Amino acid sequence: MARHALTILYTGRGKGKTTAALGQVLRAAGHGFKICVIQFIKGKSTGESNACASLDMVDFHVMGSGFTWRQDPDETKRAAEAGWSLAEKMINAGQHDLVVLDEVTYLVEHQLIAEDRILKLIRERPSHVHLVLTGRDASQKLIDQADLVTEMIEVKHPYAAGVKAQQGIEF
Ligand code: ATP
Ligand code: MG
Repeated sequence: MARHALTILYTGRGKGKTTAALGQVLRAAGHGFKICVIQFIKGKSTGESNACASLDMVDFHVMGSGFTWRQDPDETKRAAEAGWSLAEKMINAGQHDLVVLDEVTYLVEHQLIAEDRILKLIRERPSHVHLVLTGRDASQKLIDQADLVTEMIEVKHPYAAGVKAQQGIEF
């Protein structure tokens, strides 16, 4: 079957964006795809990075350590640049069938990486590479460029009832 490489975007304010991307990773892994996941926000290891460490076909990179409000803007900018350079390198190398850029919309929203640079990479990537992008508040340009866009809508979240983020569910 000929491949039609897709740009898939999960956005919106409800829970489920990163986990939808990871579900896609699991499915693709089961068919022997080579996969690269780059997480731009999560600071340290997550359940998903731990689990993927035992999967040969998944290269997992957590690039988020610099992304907090408390750190100085220069450090945040450097971390964003390092993460984005890695994304460019991985995607353009064409060695993966599927690349996930988790929380990539944050880079645009906070003007850490020029939006045009992100749009260009999506447009000019090797034609066999599927992309999965996540993050709240995707820009209209990103939405326009994607093939598949799903908005997670928050109907109810346990945070409102005072339940804090739990290991295994949120991270
Ligand atoms: P998940 O990683 O569980 O799929 P997500 O990627 O859709 O969630 P993000 O926008 O990346 O969610 O937010 C990170 C964390 O914030 C998630 O663990 C999610 O559970 C949590 N979250 C989502 N909506 C809310 C909310 N309304 N209030 C508080 N926390 C929330
Ligand atoms: Mg997320």
